[in-house]
Amino acid sequence: MLLTLAKEIGFSHAAAVDPSSLKAQQEVRELCAADRCGHYGRNWSCPPYAGELTAAQKQLARCTEGVLVQTTGNLADEFDIEGIGRLMQLHSRRFATLARQARLLYPKVLPLSAGPCTVCRHCTCPTRPCRFPQKRLSSMEAFGLMVGDVCRAAGLPYSDGSKTMTFTSCILIMQ
Ligand code: SF4
Repeated sequence: MLLTLAKEIGFSHAAAVDPSSLKAQQEVRELCAADRCGHYGRNWSCPPYAGELTAAQKQLARCTEGVLVQTTGNLADEFDIEGIGRLMQLHSRRFATLARQARLLYPKVLPLSAGPCTVCRHCTCPTRPCRFPQKRLSSMEAFGLMVGDVCRAAGLPYSDGSKTMTFTSCILIMQ
């Protein structure tokens, strides 16, 4: 059902992922703390506000099935920031649709996005509480997942090569 939904929404690639292969890794949290993306401490779904890694692993252990989804597109060159931004927005829209539809079909869904929660144009973190805790999307990285490892486990490429960009997210169904 999830795979069918993902294909209907238009993701470039989609494949089943075995939740038992997902491991929350401290190393990924350390990469987040380096704040190369500029969202560390500025989004409720990102570290250090994303909760303990042990709690993330417990949630992952409750998942019974999942799908990895990707949006891939061509870039003019490796500095094509506008092209990257357009692809990121396209992927975010697709993933928000997938999460919304999955939440209608399954009682407990764990959507893990590519990057920070983008439900609001500007996250209220850290000054005011999250506006929409029920809609909030955590990132794969906030759950300690090494995206390349998850792609490998699902049999999908992490990247399609030079002058392309791929955004990856996954959606998991919980017991
Ligand atoms: S729902 Fe809004 S306030 Fe809450 S984490 Fe997402 S962007 Fe931030």
